[in-house]
Amino acid sequence: MKHYDYVIVGSGLFAGVFAWHARKAGKSCLVIEKRGHMGGNIYCEDVEGIHVHKYGAHIFHTSSRRVWDFVNSLVEFNRYTNSPIANYHGEIYNMPFNMNTFSKMWGISTPDQARAIIEQQRGQIDHEPRNLEEQAISLVGRDIYEKLIKGYTEKQWGRSCRELPSFIIKRLPVRYTYDNNYFNDRFQGIPIGGYNKIIDALFEGCDVLLNTDFNEDREKYMAMGDTVLYTGMLDSFYNYQFGHLEYRSLKFESELLDTPNYQGVAVVNYTDRETPYTRVIEHKHFEYGTSSKTVITREYPVTWEEGMEPYYPVNDEKNQAMFEKYEALAKKEQHVIFGGRLAEYKYYDMDKVIESAFKLTDTVFNA
Ligand code: FAD
Ligand code: UDP
Repeated sequence: MKHYDYVIVGSGLFAGVFAWHARKAGKSCLVIEKRGHMGGNIYCEDVEGIHVHKYGAHIFHTSSRRVWDFVNSLVEFNRYTNSPIANYHGEIYNMPFNMNTFSKMWGISTPDQARAIIEQQRGQIDHEPRNLEEQAISLVGRDIYEKLIKGYTEKQWGRSCRELPSFIIKRLPVRYTYDNNYFNDRFQGIPIGGYNKIIDALFEGCDVLLNTDFNEDREKYMAMGDTVLYTGMLDSFYNYQFGHLEYRSLKFESELLDTPNYQGVAVVNYTDRETPYTRVIEHKHFEYGTSSKTVITREYPVTWEEGMEPYYPVNDEKNQAMFEKYEALAKKEQHVIFGGRLAEYKYYDMDKVIESAFKLTDTVFNA
């Protein structure tokens, strides 16, 4: 049996950035992936020439020049700027929270008018926000909290906004300008030709075993290389000895429709509590598709159970404490390196995963 410099568990972005540097340094790599395809959550499926984001909408954005130059060296990016729409019982608002949102909500036109209303609605919250509800109201006032945040967030996270940490909502920009760009980052876009082009470039020259769960025969696969890079769930690597880390999962329901343009935008958030899904994605708009058909995906949040895909880590105190116990074991390993959103149990965007991988490859390969 061939012996490798690296056995790489998982084929997402973290694994890919590591593999790319390893290959550049002349190292041999075996990739072990439990799914039937490469790419982790950025994988796209081709349906009638449309790149369908199979594991949820992925928009690349970063403020790091190094990350942007790196991904552009693998594939060219288009000029896509994410500007989702919120639908609250049929009322349409621009996201993120900006002058377009405030104007539609209150019939006003100037930043001073918007500030005055938010100031008045913030009312009694004069202390540091203790939870997501207080954070949201103090940022954008009660009307926007009730119509655009409360229902969406409680569906997404399966618990009350009063029991959620405030940092979740701080991801979203609040702007007193007429600017619908969902992100503040300097660089943004979608790979021309789809995300799979990045994956193909990152893993070029690696041997690959698909449909293979590393943890089902750990000793055998460990013995196949000098060093293992593991990007799966940390608790599963340690046989859940301290218990199961919690995640939120998602169910995706896709449909091919015989119409060229279903919703006029890539992402519509359904922010009421009653609609069971949080968003509808129309994939062709990420790449300005012109075909006569379209593919849409409804995204339903679900409570994670074993066997489901672990999409979002639940970084509350209880889970964080359990994670730290696993992390202490991981730090003692001699021949296993851990990284990526599952092994680090972090709500990472793609650029942050790449930065985290750079930190590792800078040390290992002196890049
Ligand atoms: P993953 O992509 O999860 O890769 C891990 C891989 O390891 C998987 O392929 C898995 O099957 C495999 N694996 C796990 N365990 C084993 C095992 N035991 N044996 C073999 N293989 C195993 N980021 C953005 O920047 N912009 C966005 O718009 C965006 N949207 C998102 C939307 C959704 C719904 C989600 C869930 C995430 C989104 N992200 C977004 C985050 C982005 O998906 C991640 O940052 C990135 O894909 C993580 O890469 P990774 O390599 O760490 O993990
Ligand atoms: N959010 C909201 N209303 C929206 C969109 C987002 O209340 O229309 C909140 C929700 O709590 C969500 C958080 O903002 O979890 C972060 O949103 P983001 O779009 O960054 O989430 P992701 O794309 O990672 O699921």
